[in-house]
Amino acid sequence: MRAYRIAIVGAGPAGYFAAQALQNRQSAEVSFAIDMFEKLPTPWGLVRSGVAPDHPKIKSVSKVFEKIASDEGFRLLANVNVGVDISLDELKSLYDAVVVAIGAPKGKTLGIPGEGLKNVISSANFVYWYNGHPEYIDLEVDLSGSQAIVIGAGNVAMDVGRMLAIDPQELVTTDTAEHALQTLHDSKIRDVYITARRGAESAAFTAPELRELPDIESVDVIIDERDIDGAISRAGNDPEKHVKSNLDAMHSISMAPTKNRSRRLHFLFQHRPLSINGGSEVESVTFETPQGIVDVPCNLVVTAIGYLPSEFPGLLRRDSQYENQNGWVADNLYVVGWAKRGPQGVIGTNKSDAAAVMETMVSKLKEAKPRIDVLPILQEREIQVVSQRDWTLINDEEVRRGVEQGKPRVKFTSVAEMLDLLALH
Ligand code: NAP
Repeated sequence: MRAYRIAIVGAGPAGYFAAQALQNRQSAEVSFAIDMFEKLPTPWGLVRSGVAPDHPKIKSVSKVFEKIASDEGFRLLANVNVGVDISLDELKSLYDAVVVAIGAPKGKTLGIPGEGLKNVISSANFVYWYNGHPEYIDLEVDLSGSQAIVIGAGNVAMDVGRMLAIDPQELVTTDTAEHALQTLHDSKIRDVYITARRGAESAAFTAPELRELPDIESVDVIIDERDIDGAISRAGNDPEKHVKSNLDAMHSISMAPTKNRSRRLHFLFQHRPLSINGGSEVESVTFETPQGIVDVPCNLVVTAIGYLPSEFPGLLRRDSQYENQNGWVADNLYVVGWAKRGPQGVIGTNKSDAAAVMETMVSKLKEAKPRIDVLPILQEREIQVVSQRDWTLINDEEVRRGVEQGKPRVKFTSVAEMLDLLALH
């Protein structure tokens, strides 16, 4: 029997699917004890802090994560900041292999004038804010103006556009963070413009997300039919399947009669941002369009143009991911998820991707290392490790508070409050 010990850094979808792939490979000859490290006291990564609160179905994958966590050989070591509390090199020496699954949490920048103005916010921060990520709850978000511009035409731009446009009454039964729900409740924003630098045929949305837009009760979704006609003709006779599905969905939206709502979500195509303008506050965005230069007034800009990985000691950034060869970095170090392939793909994409990396990893494993437990090392450093049992207490309390208010959960947004709760048990 070969008993290996694997460290996974990051408790998001890619980390869990890597763990699942290892669990699936266990047999009478080989076993894997998995320690999953997570910076926050709460696991699930983007499923908790990234997925839009009005998309609860997508979050149901957390049940799969909890099943993975229930395996005998699995330990959650949350509230441990790898790179600060313990280094990647230390993990590499303690474990047979280390799998980094820390995603790409930084928003890309446009590199145009005005990006530093007040109320120009990256989706990376804005999404964490409305999802109650403890490090972003104090983000300054001013929704006192009537118009918002979202730059980018991917699913994140769509999430942000919906969250800004929707009547917050529709969010009351979601797990939107309480501070964000209050700010959205007071919001004066009524027109949200999702802006794409290319035509609709090149938009990065996916069709299911487009198809659900007309179902938002409180919002009129506005797409100019001429934009879609132009896109259909540019896409030619034999467009790729996802392009055709997107264009069909957008065409149907463009033809729908108005619901005469006071809240509107507009799509502007072929609008390349040139500058964000204003004094102390943002006032407009200047775009280059086929019709010439246009200025669109706004009081808030959210850029949703993709993500970059953070600086991480022991990993080299190359483009939008860490340097790797099919997930292998060097020695016994691997990356999975957005850390490996850049910020692309839906949650499910991580399943096959992580499984392929784990296959490579397992094929390279040799003699198992002698067991040295990381827990006493962390305890000596006075790190308060949040275990699976501790997380269950936090989770149960959030769900209990949610039941009282008819929501799936009311999230803790302060690490100190979570640790206080644990101190009571
Ligand atoms: P994305 O899909 O790569 O879209 C990024 C968008 O930003 C593109 O429209 C891109 O336009 C635009 N962009 C990039 N640089 C720009 C610039 N300098 N100026 C103007 N526009 C610029 O990225 P994402 O929206 O961040 O999503 C990341 C991944 O997560 C995607 O795979 C997405 O499907 C997934 N996701 C899925 C869901 C869901 O399933 N519901 C929700 C959220 C995210 P160009 O194409 O012209 O470069």
